[in-house]
Amino acid sequence: MRKIITLIVGILFLNLYSFSQWTVQTVPDPKQSGKGFVSNPDNILTSSELAFLDSIIQEVQDSSKAEIAIVMLQSIGAEVPKTFATELFNHWGIGNAETDNGLLILFVKDQRRIEFETGYRTEQILSDAKCYDIQQEYMIPRFKEADYGQGIIDGTKEVVRIFMGRAEEIIPSDTESTDTSNDYNYKDESDCDYSFYERNRGILILYFIIIAAVLVLFFILLLISILEKDYFNRYQRLRLFRLYIWFILFPVPFIVVYIIVRIITERWRNTPRISEKTGLIMHKLTENEEDKYLKKGQISEEKVRSIDYDVWVSGEEDDILIQAYKRWFSKYNACPKCKFKTYYKVYDKVIRQPTYSSTGTGEKSYKCTNCGHAKVYTYTIAKKTKTSSSSSGSSSSSWSGGSSSWGGGSSGGGGAGSSW
Ligand SMILES: [Zn+2]
Repeated sequence: MRKIITLIVGILFLNLYSFSQWTVQTVPDPKQSGKGFVSNPDNILTSSELAFLDSIIQEVQDSSKAEIAIVMLQSIGAEVPKTFATELFNHWGIGNAETDNGLLILFVKDQRRIEFETGYRTEQILSDAKCYDIQQEYMIPRFKEADYGQGIIDGTKEVVRIFMGRAEEIIPSDTESTDTSNDYNYKDESDCDYSFYERNRGILILYFIIIAAVLVLFFILLLISILEKDYFNRYQRLRLFRLYIWFILFPVPFIVVYIIVRIITERWRNTPRISEKTGLIMHKLTENEEDKYLKKGQISEEKVRSIDYDVWVSGEEDDILIQAYKRWFSKYNACPKCKFKTYYKVYDKVIRQPTYSSTGTGEKSYKCTNCGHAKVYTYTIAKKTKTSSSSSGSSSSSWSGGSSSWGGGSSGGGGAGSSW
Protein backbone atom coordinates (compact mmCIF):
# COMPACT_ATOMS: atom_id res chain seq x y z
CA MET A 1 0.00 0.00 0.00
CA ARG A 2 2.77 2.44 0.93
CA LYS A 3 4.56 1.57 -2.27
CA ILE A 4 1.45 2.39 -4.28
CA ILE A 5 1.00 5.74 -2.49
CA THR A 6 4.67 6.56 -3.04
CA LEU A 7 4.27 5.68 -6.71
CA ILE A 8 1.13 7.80 -7.09
CA VAL A 9 2.73 10.74 -5.28
CA GLY A 10 5.84 10.21 -7.34
CA ILE A 11 3.88 10.26 -10.63
CA LEU A 12 1.92 13.32 -9.52
CA PHE A 13 5.09 15.11 -8.51
CA LEU A 14 6.79 14.15 -11.78
CA ASN A 15 3.77 15.39 -13.70
CA LEU A 16 3.74 18.68 -11.83
CA TYR A 17 7.45 19.01 -12.23
CA SER A 18 7.40 18.31 -15.94
CA PHE A 19 4.41 20.60 -16.39
CA SER A 20 6.44 23.61 -15.30
CA GLN A 21 9.40 22.46 -17.38
CA TRP A 22 9.11 24.39 -20.58
CA THR A 23 10.54 23.33 -23.92
CA VAL A 24 11.21 25.48 -26.99
CA GLN A 25 8.01 24.05 -28.50
CA THR A 26 5.76 24.53 -25.46
CA VAL A 27 6.73 28.04 -24.34
CA PRO A 28 3.62 30.17 -25.02
CA ASP A 29 4.29 32.61 -27.87
CA PRO A 30 2.86 36.00 -26.76
CA LYS A 31 2.49 37.06 -30.41
CA GLN A 32 0.17 34.16 -31.14
CA SER A 33 -2.06 34.87 -28.19
CA GLY A 34 -2.00 38.57 -29.13
CA LYS A 35 -0.55 39.51 -25.76
CA GLY A 36 2.39 41.69 -26.69
CA PHE A 37 6.04 40.78 -26.38
CA VAL A 38 6.36 39.05 -23.01
CA SER A 39 5.81 35.35 -22.32
CA ASN A 40 5.00 34.99 -18.62
CA PRO A 41 3.34 31.56 -18.21
CA ASP A 42 4.51 31.08 -14.61
CA ASN A 43 3.30 34.54 -13.53
CA ILE A 44 6.75 35.64 -12.43
CA LEU A 45 5.84 39.19 -13.48
CA THR A 46 2.80 41.08 -12.22
CA SER A 47 0.25 42.35 -14.72
CA SER A 48 1.38 45.96 -14.26
CA GLU A 49 5.01 45.02 -14.87
CA LEU A 50 3.88 43.12 -17.95
CA ALA A 51 1.93 46.11 -19.27
CA PHE A 52 4.86 48.46 -18.71
CA LEU A 53 7.31 46.16 -20.53
CA ASP A 54 4.91 45.75 -23.46
CA SER A 55 4.51 49.52 -23.76
CA ILE A 56 8.24 50.33 -23.89
CA ILE A 57 8.96 47.46 -26.30
CA GLN A 58 6.15 48.68 -28.55
CA GLU A 59 7.78 52.14 -28.58
CA VAL A 60 11.12 50.65 -29.63
CA GLN A 61 9.44 48.66 -32.35
CA ASP A 62 7.57 51.69 -33.66
CA SER A 63 10.60 53.95 -33.74
CA SER A 64 13.58 51.72 -34.43
CA LYS A 65 11.90 48.64 -35.92
CA ALA A 66 13.81 46.44 -33.48
CA GLU A 67 11.87 43.52 -32.03
CA ILE A 68 12.34 42.49 -28.40
CA ALA A 69 10.90 39.36 -26.76
CA ILE A 70 10.99 38.63 -23.03
CA VAL A 71 10.46 35.08 -21.78
CA MET A 72 10.05 34.46 -18.03
CA LEU A 73 10.18 30.78 -17.11
CA GLN A 74 10.22 28.85 -13.86
CA SER A 75 12.15 25.95 -15.33
CA ILE A 76 13.48 24.46 -18.54
CA GLY A 77 14.58 21.28 -16.77
CA ALA A 78 18.19 20.39 -17.40
CA GLU A 79 18.35 22.33 -20.66
CA VAL A 80 21.21 24.82 -21.02
CA PRO A 81 19.64 28.33 -21.01
CA LYS A 82 21.98 29.61 -23.74
CA THR A 83 21.09 26.75 -26.11
CA PHE A 84 17.43 27.15 -25.21
CA ALA A 85 17.59 30.89 -25.97
CA THR A 86 19.23 30.38 -29.38
CA GLU A 87 16.71 27.69 -30.33
CA LEU A 88 13.71 29.67 -29.12
CA PHE A 89 14.95 32.80 -30.95
CA ASN A 90 15.16 30.93 -34.22
CA HIS A 91 11.98 28.94 -33.58
CA TRP A 92 9.94 32.11 -33.20
CA GLY A 93 12.00 34.13 -35.68
CA ILE A 94 12.42 37.24 -33.56
CA GLY A 95 13.35 40.39 -35.49
CA ASN A 96 12.91 41.31 -39.13
CA ALA A 97 13.97 38.54 -41.52
CA GLU A 98 16.03 40.97 -43.60
CA THR A 99 17.55 43.21 -40.97
CA ASP A 100 17.85 40.66 -38.12
CA ASN A 101 17.41 43.20 -35.38
CA GLY A 102 15.76 41.01 -32.76
CA LEU A 103 16.58 40.49 -29.08
CA LEU A 104 15.38 37.71 -26.79
CA ILE A 105 15.67 38.12 -23.02
CA LEU A 106 15.29 34.72 -21.36
CA PHE A 107 14.85 34.40 -17.60
CA VAL A 108 15.11 30.93 -16.03
CA LYS A 109 14.24 31.06 -12.35
CA ASP A 110 15.29 27.65 -11.08
CA GLN A 111 18.67 27.84 -12.79
CA ARG A 112 19.07 31.46 -11.58
CA ARG A 113 20.06 32.48 -15.10
CA ILE A 114 19.39 35.43 -17.42
CA GLU A 115 20.28 35.17 -21.13
CA PHE A 116 20.29 37.81 -23.88
CA GLU A 117 20.09 36.37 -27.38
CA THR A 118 20.80 38.85 -30.18
CA GLY A 119 19.97 38.72 -33.90
CA TYR A 120 22.85 39.08 -36.35
CA ARG A 121 22.44 42.80 -36.73
CA THR A 122 21.47 43.52 -33.15
CA GLU A 123 25.03 42.59 -32.23
CA GLN A 124 26.19 45.83 -33.88
CA ILE A 125 24.08 47.90 -31.49
CA LEU A 126 24.23 45.58 -28.51
CA SER A 127 27.57 43.80 -28.29
CA ASP A 128 27.97 40.69 -26.16
CA ALA A 129 30.02 42.71 -23.68
CA LYS A 130 27.29 45.35 -23.49
CA CYS A 131 24.66 42.65 -22.84
CA TYR A 132 26.76 41.29 -20.00
CA ASP A 133 27.28 44.77 -18.52
CA ILE A 134 23.54 45.46 -18.51
CA GLN A 135 22.83 42.17 -16.76
CA GLN A 136 25.50 42.77 -14.13
CA GLU A 137 24.63 46.39 -13.53
CA TYR A 138 20.84 46.51 -13.73
CA MET A 139 19.47 42.98 -13.35
CA ILE A 140 21.57 40.67 -11.18
CA PRO A 141 21.51 42.94 -8.07
CA ARG A 142 17.69 42.98 -8.22
CA PHE A 143 17.43 39.25 -8.87
CA LYS A 144 19.58 38.60 -5.81
CA GLU A 145 16.94 40.43 -3.79
CA ALA A 146 14.30 38.25 -5.51
CA ASP A 147 12.89 41.42 -7.12
CA TYR A 148 12.62 39.77 -10.54
CA GLY A 149 10.11 42.19 -12.02
CA GLN A 150 12.18 45.30 -11.25
CA GLY A 151 15.36 43.56 -12.47
CA ILE A 152 13.75 42.77 -15.81
CA ILE A 153 12.32 46.30 -16.09
CA ASP A 154 15.63 48.03 -15.27
CA GLY A 155 17.57 45.86 -17.72
CA THR A 156 14.98 46.26 -20.47
CA LYS A 157 14.91 50.04 -20.00
CA GLU A 158 18.66 50.13 -20.48
CA VAL A 159 18.32 48.00 -23.64
CA VAL A 160 15.58 50.30 -24.89
CA ARG A 161 17.76 53.33 -24.26
CA ILE A 162 20.57 51.85 -26.32
CA PHE A 163 18.19 50.96 -29.14
CA MET A 164 16.66 54.40 -29.20
CA GLY A 165 19.53 56.63 -28.17
CA ARG A 166 17.39 58.50 -25.66
CA ALA A 167 15.09 56.24 -23.72
CA GLU A 168 13.98 58.94 -21.24
CA GLU A 169 11.56 60.28 -23.79
CA ILE A 170 9.71 57.00 -24.12
CA ILE A 171 9.68 55.85 -20.52
CA PRO A 172 6.54 56.97 -18.68
CA SER A 173 7.51 59.32 -15.87
CA ASP A 174 5.29 57.59 -13.26
CA THR A 175 7.72 54.70 -12.83
CA GLU A 176 10.39 54.72 -10.16
CA SER A 177 14.11 54.47 -10.73
CA THR A 178 14.18 56.80 -13.72
CA ASP A 179 16.51 58.87 -11.51
CA THR A 180 19.38 56.47 -12.19
CA SER A 181 19.11 57.02 -15.91
CA ASN A 182 20.71 60.45 -15.95
CA ASP A 183 23.95 59.18 -14.46
CA TYR A 184 24.57 56.99 -17.48
CA ASN A 185 23.26 59.36 -20.07
CA TYR A 186 26.57 60.84 -21.08
CA LYS A 187 28.38 57.51 -21.20
CA ASP A 188 25.81 55.88 -23.43
CA GLU A 189 25.52 58.71 -25.88
CA SER A 190 29.25 58.62 -26.44
CA ASP A 191 28.96 54.86 -26.92
CA CYS A 192 26.36 55.40 -29.61
CA ASP A 193 28.50 58.00 -31.37
CA TYR A 194 31.42 55.65 -31.30
CA SER A 195 29.49 52.77 -32.79
CA PHE A 196 28.01 55.09 -35.43
CA TYR A 197 31.51 56.09 -36.45
CA GLU A 198 32.65 52.46 -36.37
CA ARG A 199 29.78 51.31 -38.56
CA ASN A 200 30.22 54.09 -41.09
CA ARG A 201 33.98 54.36 -41.19
CA GLY A 202 34.21 52.43 -44.46
CA ILE A 203 31.64 54.71 -46.10
CA LEU A 204 33.41 57.84 -44.82
CA ILE A 205 36.77 56.68 -46.16
CA LEU A 206 35.18 55.89 -49.53
CA TYR A 207 33.54 59.33 -49.54
CA PHE A 208 36.88 61.08 -49.06
CA ILE A 209 38.55 58.91 -51.72
CA ILE A 210 35.81 59.92 -54.21
CA ILE A 211 36.22 63.61 -53.31
CA ALA A 212 39.98 63.33 -53.87
CA ALA A 213 39.49 61.53 -57.20
CA VAL A 214 36.97 64.11 -58.45
CA LEU A 215 39.27 66.94 -57.36
CA VAL A 216 42.17 65.36 -59.29
CA LEU A 217 39.90 65.04 -62.33
CA PHE A 218 38.94 68.69 -61.96
CA PHE A 219 42.56 69.87 -61.90
CA ILE A 220 43.44 67.72 -64.93
CA LEU A 221 40.50 69.13 -66.91
CA LEU A 222 41.34 72.66 -65.75
CA LEU A 223 44.91 72.22 -66.99
CA ILE A 224 43.76 70.76 -70.33
CA SER A 225 41.30 73.61 -70.87
CA ILE A 226 43.82 76.32 -70.04
CA LEU A 227 46.28 74.78 -72.51
CA GLU A 228 43.54 74.96 -75.14
CA LYS A 229 43.74 78.06 -77.35
CA ASP A 230 40.17 78.18 -78.50
CA TYR A 231 37.76 79.61 -75.90
CA PHE A 232 34.86 77.48 -77.10
CA ASN A 233 36.97 74.33 -76.65
CA ARG A 234 38.09 75.53 -73.22
CA TYR A 235 34.48 75.84 -72.18
CA GLN A 236 33.70 72.34 -73.44
CA ARG A 237 36.62 70.75 -71.55
CA LEU A 238 35.45 72.14 -68.22
CA ARG A 239 31.76 71.73 -68.92
CA LEU A 240 31.51 68.68 -66.66
CA PHE A 241 32.15 70.86 -63.61
CA ARG A 242 29.36 73.27 -64.45
CA LEU A 243 27.05 70.56 -63.04
CA TYR A 244 25.79 71.53 -59.61
CA ILE A 245 25.58 67.84 -58.66
CA TRP A 246 29.20 68.07 -57.48
CA PHE A 247 28.49 70.49 -54.71
CA ILE A 248 25.29 68.68 -53.74
CA LEU A 249 27.25 65.45 -53.32
CA PHE A 250 30.36 67.06 -51.90
CA PRO A 251 29.54 70.53 -50.52
CA VAL A 252 33.10 70.81 -49.30
CA PRO A 253 35.11 71.63 -51.37
CA PHE A 254 32.95 71.68 -54.52
CA ILE A 255 30.92 74.76 -53.71
CA VAL A 256 34.15 76.70 -54.33
CA VAL A 257 35.02 74.68 -57.44
CA TYR A 258 31.51 75.22 -58.80
CA ILE A 259 31.63 79.00 -58.34
CA ILE A 260 35.09 79.24 -59.92
CA VAL A 261 34.07 77.07 -62.87
CA ARG A 262 30.90 79.09 -63.43
CA ILE A 263 32.83 82.37 -63.46
CA ILE A 264 35.66 81.27 -65.74
CA THR A 265 33.50 79.32 -68.21
CA GLU A 266 31.12 82.28 -68.56
CA ARG A 267 34.12 84.48 -69.20
CA TRP A 268 35.42 82.06 -71.84
CA ARG A 269 32.01 81.90 -73.46
CA ASN A 270 31.90 85.68 -73.77
CA THR A 271 35.51 86.34 -74.73
CA PRO A 272 35.45 87.94 -78.21
CA ARG A 273 36.28 85.45 -80.95
CA ILE A 274 38.71 86.21 -83.75
CA SER A 275 37.55 85.61 -87.31
CA GLU A 276 39.66 82.96 -89.00
CA LYS A 277 38.95 84.47 -92.42
CA THR A 278 39.59 88.12 -91.74
CA GLY A 279 41.51 88.10 -88.44
CA LEU A 280 39.08 90.71 -87.12
CA ILE A 281 37.47 90.68 -83.71
CA MET A 282 33.90 89.33 -83.79
CA HIS A 283 31.03 90.31 -81.55
CA LYS A 284 28.25 88.19 -80.08
CA LEU A 285 24.68 88.79 -81.18
CA THR A 286 21.80 89.00 -78.74
CA GLU A 287 19.14 86.27 -78.62
CA ASN A 288 16.87 88.40 -80.83
CA GLU A 289 19.51 89.31 -83.37
CA GLU A 290 20.87 85.78 -83.80
CA ASP A 291 17.65 84.16 -85.11
CA LYS A 292 18.18 85.25 -88.70
CA TYR A 293 21.49 83.36 -88.82
CA LEU A 294 20.07 80.17 -87.27
CA LYS A 295 18.22 77.38 -89.07
CA LYS A 296 14.59 76.72 -88.14
CA GLY A 297 15.64 73.54 -86.33
CA GLN A 298 18.26 75.39 -84.31
CA ILE A 299 15.66 77.96 -83.24
CA SER A 300 13.40 75.04 -82.20
CA GLU A 301 16.28 73.62 -80.16
CA GLU A 302 16.74 76.96 -78.42
CA LYS A 303 13.00 77.14 -77.74
CA VAL A 304 12.94 73.75 -76.02
CA ARG A 305 16.28 74.64 -74.41
CA SER A 306 18.05 71.46 -75.48
CA ILE A 307 20.85 73.50 -77.10
CA ASP A 308 21.78 77.16 -76.65
CA TYR A 309 23.45 78.83 -79.64
CA ASP A 310 25.83 81.77 -79.67
CA VAL A 311 26.23 83.61 -82.97
CA TRP A 312 29.39 85.63 -83.55
CA VAL A 313 29.83 88.00 -86.45
CA SER A 314 32.72 90.18 -87.53
CA GLY A 315 32.22 93.86 -88.28
CA GLU A 316 31.10 93.44 -91.86
CA GLU A 317 28.99 90.35 -91.07
CA ASP A 318 30.90 88.53 -93.79
CA ASP A 319 32.06 85.84 -91.35
CA ILE A 320 29.59 84.04 -89.10
CA LEU A 321 30.52 81.67 -86.30
CA ILE A 322 27.82 79.58 -84.65
CA GLN A 323 28.69 77.78 -81.43
CA ALA A 324 26.39 75.26 -79.77
CA TYR A 325 26.16 74.77 -76.00
CA LYS A 326 24.30 71.59 -75.20
CA ARG A 327 22.43 71.17 -71.97
CA TRP A 328 23.61 68.28 -69.82
CA PHE A 329 20.16 66.99 -69.07
CA SER A 330 17.36 67.50 -71.53
CA LYS A 331 14.35 65.37 -72.25
CA TYR A 332 14.89 66.11 -75.95
CA ASN A 333 16.87 63.78 -78.20
CA ALA A 334 17.96 63.91 -81.82
CA CYS A 335 14.97 63.52 -84.15
CA PRO A 336 15.32 60.49 -86.48
CA LYS A 337 13.92 62.61 -89.33
CA CYS A 338 15.23 66.18 -89.07
CA LYS A 339 18.20 65.31 -86.74
CA PHE A 340 17.58 68.29 -84.45
CA LYS A 341 17.48 67.79 -80.68
CA THR A 342 13.75 68.39 -80.47
CA TYR A 343 12.40 64.83 -80.28
CA TYR A 344 10.78 63.85 -77.00
CA LYS A 345 8.69 61.16 -75.32
CA VAL A 346 5.06 62.30 -75.07
CA TYR A 347 3.91 59.38 -72.91
CA ASP A 348 4.72 55.86 -71.83
CA LYS A 349 1.72 53.93 -70.60
CA VAL A 350 0.60 50.42 -69.82
CA ILE A 351 -2.13 49.23 -72.18
CA ARG A 352 -2.54 45.80 -70.61
CA GLN A 353 -1.19 44.82 -67.16
CA PRO A 354 0.96 41.68 -67.05
CA THR A 355 -0.29 38.81 -64.89
CA TYR A 356 1.44 35.74 -63.48
CA SER A 357 0.32 33.78 -66.55
CA SER A 358 0.50 36.28 -69.42
CA THR A 359 2.65 39.16 -70.61
CA GLY A 360 1.39 42.74 -70.74
CA THR A 361 1.58 45.50 -73.33
CA GLY A 362 2.87 49.03 -73.09
CA GLU A 363 2.84 51.98 -75.46
CA LYS A 364 5.33 54.80 -75.95
CA SER A 365 4.70 57.90 -78.04
CA TYR A 366 7.39 60.25 -79.41
CA LYS A 367 7.09 63.57 -81.19
CA CYS A 368 9.41 66.17 -82.73
CA THR A 369 8.56 69.80 -81.93
CA ASN A 370 10.56 70.96 -84.96
CA CYS A 371 9.37 68.87 -87.92
CA GLY A 372 6.29 67.32 -86.30
CA HIS A 373 7.55 63.77 -86.89
CA ALA A 374 5.67 61.40 -84.53
CA LYS A 375 5.86 57.72 -83.75
CA VAL A 376 4.03 55.31 -81.45
CA TYR A 377 5.64 52.07 -80.31
CA THR A 378 4.06 49.14 -78.52
CA TYR A 379 6.21 46.89 -76.38
CA THR A 380 5.83 43.75 -74.31
CA ILE A 381 5.95 43.76 -70.51
CA ALA A 382 7.32 40.58 -68.90
CA LYS A 383 5.07 38.31 -66.86
CA LYS A 384 4.86 38.93 -63.15
CA THR A 385 7.03 36.65 -61.04
CA LYS A 386 6.34 35.60 -57.50
CA THR A 387 9.09 36.82 -55.19
CA SER A 388 10.56 34.31 -52.78
CA SER A 389 9.72 36.48 -49.80
CA SER A 390 6.03 36.57 -50.51
CA SER A 391 5.78 32.80 -50.90
CA SER A 392 7.83 31.85 -47.88
CA GLY A 393 5.06 32.57 -45.44
CA SER A 394 6.87 35.09 -43.30
CA SER A 395 6.05 38.58 -44.41
CA SER A 396 7.66 41.85 -43.53
CA SER A 397 4.28 43.31 -42.72
CA SER A 398 4.39 41.59 -39.36
CA TRP A 399 6.22 44.63 -38.06
CA SER A 400 3.19 46.64 -37.21
CA GLY A 401 1.93 46.50 -33.68
CA GLY A 402 -0.56 43.86 -32.72
CA SER A 403 0.59 41.43 -35.38
CA SER A 404 0.33 37.75 -34.68
CA SER A 405 3.89 36.67 -35.40
CA TRP A 406 7.47 37.74 -35.09
CA GLY A 407 9.36 39.13 -38.06
CA GLY A 408 11.31 35.98 -39.01
CA GLY A 409 14.77 36.98 -37.78
CA SER A 410 17.51 34.58 -36.80
CA SER A 411 20.36 34.43 -34.36
CA GLY A 412 23.82 32.99 -34.67
CA GLY A 413 24.20 32.74 -30.92
CA GLY A 414 25.19 36.33 -30.11
CA GLY A 415 24.45 37.71 -26.66
CA ALA A 416 25.50 37.01 -23.09
CA GLY A 417 24.25 35.37 -19.93
CA SER A 418 24.66 35.91 -16.17
CA SER A 419 23.88 33.87 -13.08
CA TRP A 420 22.93 35.04 -9.61
ZN1 LIG B 1 12.20 66.37 -86.37
